[in-house]
Amino acid sequence: MIIAESVSGIKVNAKKAERQGKYFCSLCKEQVILKRGQIKVPHFSHRQDSDCSVHSEGETWEHMKGKCDLYDWLELIGLEPEMEVYIDSISQRADVLFKWMNQLYAIEYQCSPVSENEVITRTQGYQSVSIKPLWIAGNKLSLKDKLSVLNRLFIMEEEQFGRLHLSYNAEIEQLEVSCMGEPVLSSSKRCRYCLNKYATSFNEIKERKARSFRAAGDCDKKKQIMLLHKMRHHNVRQYRSLFQLMYEHNLVIDRLPTIIFSEISEEWAISTHPIEWKLQLIIWLKEYSDSSVITQDRIEKEFYYLIGKKFINRYFLPNLKDNSHTILLHFIALLENQKYLNQVEEKAWEINKCKYNW
Ligand SMILES: [Zn+2]
Repeated sequence: MIIAESVSGIKVNAKKAERQGKYFCSLCKEQVILKRGQIKVPHFSHRQDSDCSVHSEGETWEHMKGKCDLYDWLELIGLEPEMEVYIDSISQRADVLFKWMNQLYAIEYQCSPVSENEVITRTQGYQSVSIKPLWIAGNKLSLKDKLSVLNRLFIMEEEQFGRLHLSYNAEIEQLEVSCMGEPVLSSSKRCRYCLNKYATSFNEIKERKARSFRAAGDCDKKKQIMLLHKMRHHNVRQYRSLFQLMYEHNLVIDRLPTIIFSEISEEWAISTHPIEWKLQLIIWLKEYSDSSVITQDRIEKEFYYLIGKKFINRYFLPNLKDNSHTILLHFIALLENQKYLNQVEEKAWEINKCKYNW
């Protein structure tokens, strides 16, 4: 831990502590030992046999270095952060607590694997006392090519920035901000900030203009169709309801419409397979006769009906507002773009039947 109490109960940061001073853990009140050397992050540590919960968590270099860096940066941009704050009412200890635009934020710099439930419980704990948790992934948990369960739970939203995933690499002192409004998780959608060199303010971390979807190319479709064949062959559980749906509607893998392979912005919040939920909607549209006009209201109604019946499911993400509606609007834009729907007036489209011959 970085903060301990002096004899008179004043909080002291290890980097400013006196070598001869006596310091105590603010939680268990045991005396702690100052560790400050050339390589180490200055910190306090409990005696080996201590049974304090702070001691048993066993902090790593990465965790201590990271929270000190984040703390220093917040101080640099004038936000008056507080380090290692124990919040009595919820029995949780925030790595760093700070206020920005009249909102309290708790940084949870998560370096080691943690259970999904733990993240949910801690998130809801903070929310119950009106603190906004800010999950920042350490190196091991940082965002790779695919969203992990934890990455998805770490995504936060801020009105001005949209939905973001944050990772911090303590070794190279780099904060990585990924805009999750983007459909594709490629490195070009990420911004990296060196905290020590770049005295940036929050306002400089801006969301780039997100495209709402990425149409499936031939190569993409081919790859995904190959994958579907493999999944069917191995009878993979995650795909069973999709194959059931195809079976009920006499659909074969090789003739599925291209549109369902396209990626929609923010669809990572839906747990139903991306091909499956799009197929459900497009099968429903197929029932309409040529040139029927369909309104946005009607499409929304069907979408929420499918959600209500649990044919389409969402992940439980306590950090985020429900973004199903945004996802649906992106899908409608895709249908229009690929000429499955032809706009006739605002929020109304004509079914282009020739696109539904599959
Ligand atoms: Zn203690």
